[in-house]
Amino acid sequence: MNTFLPGATIGVLGSGQLGRMFAMAARRMGYLVHTFSPETDTPTGQVADVEVTASYNDLDAVRDFASRVEVVTFEFENVPAATVEAIAGIVPVRPGGAALYTTQHRLREKSFLERAGIPVTPFRRIRTLAELNDALKIIGCPAVLKTAGFGYDGKGQRLIRTLADGADAHQSLDGQEAILEAFVDFEREVSIVCARGADGEIRHYGVVENLHERHILDCTISPARVSAEVAREAIEIATSLLEQLELIGILCVEFFLSRDGKLFVNELAPRPHNSGHFTIDACTTSQFEQQVRAVCNLPLGATEQLRPAAMANLLGDLWQQQGAPDWRAACAFPNVKLHLYGKHEARPGRKMGHLTALAATTDEALRLVRAARAALTTSAG
Ligand code: AMP
Repeated sequence: MNTFLPGATIGVLGSGQLGRMFAMAARRMGYLVHTFSPETDTPTGQVADVEVTASYNDLDAVRDFASRVEVVTFEFENVPAATVEAIAGIVPVRPGGAALYTTQHRLREKSFLERAGIPVTPFRRIRTLAELNDALKIIGCPAVLKTAGFGYDGKGQRLIRTLADGADAHQSLDGQEAILEAFVDFEREVSIVCARGADGEIRHYGVVENLHERHILDCTISPARVSAEVAREAIEIATSLLEQLELIGILCVEFFLSRDGKLFVNELAPRPHNSGHFTIDACTTSQFEQQVRAVCNLPLGATEQLRPAAMANLLGDLWQQQGAPDWRAACAFPNVKLHLYGKHEARPGRKMGHLTALAATTDEALRLVRAARAALTTSAG
């Protein structure tokens, strides 16, 4: 397995905030970073050494990008398979194309999980309205219809409350392949971020708890308020998935915890995850540094959490009423850390940054991070 030492150049596919925080960790350790995406002046490009702007389908540009770096990773998994193959012919891609192929498509992902014996909510593949109606009779209502590819943050997702909603929901798919899932009446949503090095070493950050608003992550608290047994089971599942996917890098496993204490895997992300952002301020090694270490074949760092923490996302909605939020007010909380992603346009629902609070307990950290976020828009001046 090739090792890439500080001074080497790492390529990143994608240019959002995950790439930005990865590039900051990589540059701190003495690596150079090139980023590739169809956009310019991006969150990653602003802190990378080189920003390449081209389509993922422009394979000449992709090969040129690959020829100037030593290893490639990604922060955005919805890149075409041909792009990854073109790069893999020139330099290693970590995680590799197989893990990417499985996790970038909900049907492939759920089928893989089912075959691996991992509990998932009942699901069916949907192409036609007739298939949807049949599936609704088997799975029952309420159910959730999701596009099979390219969905995140609840995009391309519809709740079907009764059989009569089927036709409308099917029309909204606009001919795209979809998956119908049974609705899980969960008690909590939890996730686990874990890492596997190029030599197979595995580390995890423990189970964290995620609070959503309008299908978008709102707050994460770590550690999660779950029993030791649930935590053990989640860790076992995540570890076995890292091994089965032979993944080199970071994996986030998102779960529903049902009211009777059962875990169901909802989704996998083969990269750092929003629910792991707290690790920057609260853990010995952040998820981004861990990605650097894993893809460069350095030993993984300790994942120990130093204090209970809570993270709150800052969405573009915060800008809608009075312009820029009052950053000074949030910084007046000495145990709250501000992270902004350098995005110029604050659209509703767009992730612009986050706050992390550290405290003696997770409940106190959550109270603090919410108070700091509220101060962004309520304080005078
Ligand atoms: P996803 O894009 O699949 O991660 O879904 C975003 C959010 O929608 C999840 O975090 C849940 O809050 C909700 N959701 C998605 N699928 C289901 C389901 N089958 N049952 C209940 N809630 C769901």
